[in-house]
Amino acid sequence: MTTTERSQELFARAERIVPGGVNSPVRAFRAVGGTPRFITSARGPYLTDADGTEYVDLICSWGPMILGHAHPAVVDAVTGAAGRGTSYGAPTPGEVELAEEIVARTPVEQVRLVNSGTEATMSAIRLARGFTGRAKIVKFAGCYHGHVDALLAAAGSGVATLALPDTPGVTGAATADTLVLPYNDVAAVERVFAEHGPEIACVITEAVPCNMGVVPPLDGFNALLQSLCARNGSLLVVDEVLTGFRASESGWYGVEGVAGDLVTFGKVMGGGLPAAAFGGRADVMALLAPAGPVYQAGTLSGNPLATAAGLATLRNATPDVYAAIDRAARIVGDAASEALTKEGVPHRLQRAGNLFSVFFTGEPVHDFAVAQTQDSAAYAAFFHAALDHGVYLPPSAYEVWFLSAAHDDAALDRVLAALPHAARAAAAA
Ligand SMILES: *Cc1c(COP(=O)(O)O)cnc(C)c1O
Repeated sequence: MTTTERSQELFARAERIVPGGVNSPVRAFRAVGGTPRFITSARGPYLTDADGTEYVDLICSWGPMILGHAHPAVVDAVTGAAGRGTSYGAPTPGEVELAEEIVARTPVEQVRLVNSGTEATMSAIRLARGFTGRAKIVKFAGCYHGHVDALLAAAGSGVATLALPDTPGVTGAATADTLVLPYNDVAAVERVFAEHGPEIACVITEAVPCNMGVVPPLDGFNALLQSLCARNGSLLVVDEVLTGFRASESGWYGVEGVAGDLVTFGKVMGGGLPAAAFGGRADVMALLAPAGPVYQAGTLSGNPLATAAGLATLRNATPDVYAAIDRAARIVGDAASEALTKEGVPHRLQRAGNLFSVFFTGEPVHDFAVAQTQDSAAYAAFFHAALDHGVYLPPSAYEVWFLSAAHDDAALDRVLAALPHAARAAAAA
């Protein structure tokens, strides 16, 4: 039997001095109960906690670790960079190389590096408003774009998990120009353009919504957004912070081929260090300071350690890596669904390429309203039984299950062995 004594002690200490004991809400296990595990090391597909228990990691840092943890090429790149100094406040060759890598793989013509996905979407919205001279933005319920004030309206997993009706601290003024629509609702999008077309600076959407669980865009939905934006002089901002360089080497763009006027990136491109980016059409990006008047800056933007980790990750993300992730995702998704079916637990396995999640509801999920019908208690029981059997799932029913190329057969076998126990616990909940 495993112990969680050290994690409990660390969590008690953390709770005294850090709100909720964590530095990002979903880590606190509030949606599933119990003590969050404090992680002391990770290697390949495994995490080890402060009590020495090893888990197969199905979070992968919420996306970035497509090569697995402590990949030798990334470790070498980061330690090498650290020895040359950690930040200069002046341009570096690594920034140019990372920007070239991003431009080569995606539809963007120019790119600006930032430190987090939140910064990327916040800056993209500012640029879209600056470029169009318009105020209104359209977002979809259940899509999460970071904790940007204007975008914290019906914002998906973190907020949904905590069941916050809204977010105190965001003023009505900050969201007054945000129009929130149900996802996948073509008529709602057409109506909003009919009513507000000339006022809409941009539509922002996740390339594939992954922060309310995986809700694939209906056939043609992203293309419709693109054509409506083009017709109305609005910009389409495609948020690929999660899908970028994970869904394929060019992100979801590589799967569906719909280009945003602006695109945001994060997670994988930082290789586990803080790096993110936004980019897009050269004529739009030209408005950004110092080339143009729209201000945006960052002391640590393009940090040499982060660019080294990101470059090492992207350069090692070969077709074999994506094939391995695709395969692992298929095996784990199928096994989870099979185990739940066997125990008679209502659920939906939803996939978009190698991205998938399991909804604990019997209904197909095409928007946030349906996503919220799931049985969170059943998921909590499922989660804890999996954890007890050495598998670390996302501590929320509203999240993607993340795999990496390091999830080899030994790791996958451990997951397959744990899933029947987890499904039994869900059935009993
Ligand atoms: C994670 C995420 C963000 C926010 O990125 P941070 O680095 O956590 O600020 C934005 N958009 C999407 C789609 C994400 O998944």
